[in-house]
Amino acid sequence: MTQQSFDVAILGAGLSGRIAAWLLSRAGARVALVERMGPDGAGSAAHVAAAMLAPLAESAIAERRIVELGIASVDLWRAWVAELPEPVFFQEDGTLVVWHARDRAEMSLFTSRVRAVAPPELVAERMRALDARGVAELEPALAGRFQQGLLLAGEGQLDNRGALRSLLHCAVAEGVHCVWEAGEVEAGDLPGLGIRADVVLDCRGLGARRDWPAQAAGGMPGLRGLRGEVVRVHAPEVKLHRPVRLLHPRYPIYIAPKPNDLYVIGATELESEDDSPMSVRSALELLSAAYSLDPAFGEARVLELNVQRRPTRPDHLPAIRVDQQARVVRLNGLYRHGFLIAPAVTEAACAVVRALLGGDPAAHAVPAALRWPGMIETDASRPLATLH
Ligand SMILES: Cc1cc2nc3c(=O)[nH]c(=O)nc-3n(C[C@H](O)[C@H](O)[C@H](O)COP(=O)(O)OP(=O)(O)OC[C@H]3O[C@@H](n4cnc5c(N)ncnc54)[C@H](O)[C@@H]3O)c2cc1C
Repeated sequence: MTQQSFDVAILGAGLSGRIAAWLLSRAGARVALVERMGPDGAGSAAHVAAAMLAPLAESAIAERRIVELGIASVDLWRAWVAELPEPVFFQEDGTLVVWHARDRAEMSLFTSRVRAVAPPELVAERMRALDARGVAELEPALAGRFQQGLLLAGEGQLDNRGALRSLLHCAVAEGVHCVWEAGEVEAGDLPGLGIRADVVLDCRGLGARRDWPAQAAGGMPGLRGLRGEVVRVHAPEVKLHRPVRLLHPRYPIYIAPKPNDLYVIGATELESEDDSPMSVRSALELLSAAYSLDPAFGEARVLELNVQRRPTRPDHLPAIRVDQQARVVRLNGLYRHGFLIAPAVTEAACAVVRALLGGDPAAHAVPAALRWPGMIETDASRPLATLH
């Protein structure tokens, strides 16, 4: 087979793969993007995600690193969305958190977790207590339904599928060579696809599981999938403006309003690699919780019941692993925060790729490593500063 030469071959055209393809190609690299499925992104976790960009709300269950990566990434999304030629729905009107009166204890738990993890100045600046009037002013559709709430100001969301589409168009416009329907590819399969690349960037999410082995015998898998289910409904009668989170001891949910009266209701999180269709229990829980938030969901039309698995490392943090010998950079572990943190994580991975391509390591990879200590893992024998 005739071989085409590239600076970088990216495996996986999900969220991180598309961002990387765009960033590297517009920086002048010759890039091939290889995906097991088609260009619509249907094989990716990104295709079903609610795409909320909620660093404070997530700090109730995440570490400080996620909050910091999230703040940096929301700044990047804002800049990128302004640059993308096709408009992508992007909103920064905050997250509204509400709870039914009987679940008041959930609110104390939520705020104490946020305060324990997020930087105090961020909490002081962004977390605002609301009374019934405050909730109604923000979301008139919820007037009279909740006595209290919290506004997490400045939090955002975007249209996941619009972002995937637009990033791909930009990458193709920059000359990225795409290979679709390639099947389950590994770095060693590239020559068989006619691709010779100086560096491979692995963005296969859960598809890269085999390359993230357990650290110790009998230990947790280095990468595992956590099943997540979301419902997409068309609900012209519902008039929510911003993402709303309902605190509940058993069925905590979020509802993210998207353009054209679409709402994403999510999400379950199950310790399971099962990717079979949504269970009746999950559908009932998600839809009942939405109906209890706003009965106008009763007339909504169910468009999709989606299931995907979130690529998750044992510490629930993202990592970039560099195999200098094989010239492979592996980005993974975006877990439930991919949209929130992928811009900063992928930028750091691209800096490592550029260092491997022969740029000045001090100017590329090292600042990213210093900014996010511990996120970039290299062979112990060759520290980052010697990448070449
Ligand atoms: C239900 C649910 C809701 C979510 N909601 C949010 C949210 O509100 N906010 C947020 O920030 N994040 C959210 N996420 C998380 C986010 O979607 C993921 O973190 C993110 O998509 C991971 O990005 P990735 O690029 O690592 O993997 P993916 O987006 O999964 O992309 C991986 C790509 O690699 C391809 N691939 C896999 N194996 C191979 C192979 N062998 N060869 C070639 N190609 C391959 C796949 O087909 C896919 O296209 C949610 C996830 C789920 C499941």
